[in-house]
Amino acid sequence: MAKGNINVSVENIFPLIKKFLYSDHEIFLRELISNATDATLKLKHLASIGEAKVEYGNPQIEVKIDKEGKKLHIIDQGIGMTAEEVEKYINEVAFSGAEEFLDKYKDSAKDSGIIGHFGLGFYSAFMVANKVEIITKSHKDEPAAHWTCDGSPEFTLEPHDKTERGTEIILHINEDDNEFLEESRIRELLVKYNKFMPIPIKFGTKTETLPKPEDAKEDDPAPTKEVDDIINNPNPAWTKQPTDLEEEDYKNFYRELYPMQFEEPLFHIHLNVDYPFNLTGILYFPKMTNDLNVQKDRIQLYQNQVFVTDNVEGIVPEFLTMLRGVIDSPDIPLNVSRSYLQADGAVKKISSYITRKVADKLKSLFNNNREDFEKKWDDIKIVIEYGMLSEEKFFDKADAFALYPTVDGKYYTYDELYNAIKAKQTDKDDKLVILYASNKDEQHSYIEAAKAKGYEVLLLDSPIVSHLMQKLETSKENISFARVDADHIDNLIKKDDNKISKLSDDEKTKLDELLKEVIPADKFTVQLETMDSDAAPFMITQPEFMRRMKE
Ligand code: ADP
Ligand code: MG
Repeated sequence: MAKGNINVSVENIFPLIKKFLYSDHEIFLRELISNATDATLKLKHLASIGEAKVEYGNPQIEVKIDKEGKKLHIIDQGIGMTAEEVEKYINEVAFSGAEEFLDKYKDSAKDSGIIGHFGLGFYSAFMVANKVEIITKSHKDEPAAHWTCDGSPEFTLEPHDKTERGTEIILHINEDDNEFLEESRIRELLVKYNKFMPIPIKFGTKTETLPKPEDAKEDDPAPTKEVDDIINNPNPAWTKQPTDLEEEDYKNFYRELYPMQFEEPLFHIHLNVDYPFNLTGILYFPKMTNDLNVQKDRIQLYQNQVFVTDNVEGIVPEFLTMLRGVIDSPDIPLNVSRSYLQADGAVKKISSYITRKVADKLKSLFNNNREDFEKKWDDIKIVIEYGMLSEEKFFDKADAFALYPTVDGKYYTYDELYNAIKAKQTDKDDKLVILYASNKDEQHSYIEAAKAKGYEVLLLDSPIVSHLMQKLETSKENISFARVDADHIDNLIKKDDNKISKLSDDEKTKLDELLKEVIPADKFTVQLETMDSDAAPFMITQPEFMRRMKE
């Protein structure tokens, strides 16, 4: 039996790691399963280049609870370690075998999906365990090793009789942490962090119903069988090529990602880039609803298929945080506890790439099927309008597909609108006046009046539209928006001759006098002509500023 001291450069680093390195105790499982995954991927790689003389087969990772023994086991069939390697990789804190592997097999292994990085993940086990054992058998022809450590810098290392290749990690769970001996808690963690990891993860068994045999009687129960319960999907849609996926595959993946969402997404965007950074993912535009799940079902960030966070602030531009889906990028620099720095240059590049991809996708949806795009406009306009306001680059691109609906249900792009109204809707300074209504019912008579003059009236009713109008007024040349019932519209628009009055001059004079008495002139405007032959013989309007004062 060998005895020795763990080789640390900083004295008593253990208590530091235990207390401060990870704020969240639960991540130990993610780290240990990441190591088991790495060990398996390394084996796969070495087998593929002929350096490991083994049958790779269909390895899996198993998580097992031993409630009575107060132990949690994580077992893999990966590369394993010799006693010498345990000394090197485990006993040297902050020496990463994963980094070393990637260095050694630089070119061939760069896409192998190896997760490890800092050489600290393993020690997170001591956040929940007072003793940790490693029983490991290398793929090389050497005896298995058994390492034990109680969280002090002392460890023991001795031979073991394990014969199958791979590593078993045994955690002796602390009294305080016995939640991690509960089936439901472990399952919850596996689903949260490991749902899409690349190696199958077994957690117990489940009963599968088999088809009834042909000669079975009507009320014979269907036969069942116990099968491994594999908690993950090792090949999630985002890791595949867009050309290999059908529309239905994207919808299925959405349901897999958000099992509680019953509404189908409107469309998806498959992200796939490997230069200048590596990023894959699928974003979905959901139908905007008042569903309470909206808050919960956010975009998830992964790194090599390991869940990192669903707080993607900074990586995804703010206006796109209403979308759903996943982003996977090994190039987002994470600190040891796997959270990222928002101000980082790489993160900013990723953010602007995503903005560009979303804009391109919207443009192609618009070009390929305008009718469908118009139908979806109401459900997506909030995101697009918000994007136009907050991201200059998006504003420029959105010109091609942002729509301006009219009260009659027509949808114009900005250029189309411009061409449609430029002949009629300019004021004496040659400024283009864009009329809009915010409420079709309340502003009905004004809308009718404007239409009778041949004007187009937009229906702009989203909550941020007033900001968008301001933005357009400053970005486009010589335009101004005017609400259809604003009292200055008549001044802005060139007066023309098609005003009709249903009253004779005599009637007008009498009515005018009468109205003056009952209607305070400082609060209301009386108009004895209308522009619409269907409307009433006169109109009483309240100037817009008065209305605003009441609001
Ligand atoms: P990292 O994963 O960042 O390299 P860790 O502290 O998580 O650092 O693990 C340290 C090293 O221990 C790994 O790089 C690997 O060489 C070795 N190791 C840990 N777990 C296993 C395992 N299940 N099978 C084989 N080697 C392992
Ligand atoms: Mg690790």
